Amino acid sequence: MSSANIRLELCKYAEKIVQNRLVVGPGGNISARHQGKMYLSPSGFALAEITTEEWVEVDIETGEITDNGLRPSSEVLMHLYAYRANPTIDAIVHTHPPNCIAFTLVATDLPVMFPDQAALVGKTAYIPYVLPTTDRLAEAFVAKVNEANSILLGNHGLVTTGRNLREAYYRTEVVEESAKIYLIASAIRTPKVMTDDEFAEVASLESEAYRIELLQKMK
Ligand SMILES: [Zn+2]
Repeated sequence: MSSANIRLELCKYAEKIVQNRLVVGPGGNISARHQGKMYLSPSGFALAEITTEEWVEVDIETGEITDNGLRPSSEVLMHLYAYRANPTIDAIVHTHPPNCIAFTLVATDLPVMFPDQAALVGKTAYIPYVLPTTDRLAEAFVAKVNEANSILLGNHGLVTTGRNLREAYYRTEVVEESAKIYLIASAIRTPKVMTDDEFAEVASLESEAYRIELLQKMK
């Protein structure tokens, strides 16, 4: 894949994020890694409005920005630190999904509740509220990136990672759906969640391994 293709992919998932109301207005930021660089959304744009040339190229090792006349997202440090800390991450999706935010207002640990969640996401980590765009948020985030591929940010939103944008994006959809299901069920009574054994059993299914492999390959 070339950097031109990465830019096209970023536009495609940025559009899906807005269509599915995972952010509103100029919120959220996404990036993908390609040959030592990351391509990140510019600051101040609604994600769906970004054109291919407007994604900002940043050198992951040095932090040097290739000038295209735009500032990178103010969460640039969160993305940089994550790519530096975990070489298996090639895409990061940060959104403000309403059910995820609502969940963090009343709870912290999102349990594993259904098979797709167990197979595609697994356990979700949580970070208490930290002022956005700061070094503190980037540091709190990087402390969790080797622990979970989905991290809830208290009173703020969600960050998911993946080996490509498709994987990171689907994880965002699944976590948002999980938060929604949890909130619906807990309005009635304490939800019955999956046990650790049930979770481990799904993760070990050959058919799930196949689906996950497919997710990594396909675009
Ligand atoms: Zn945010």
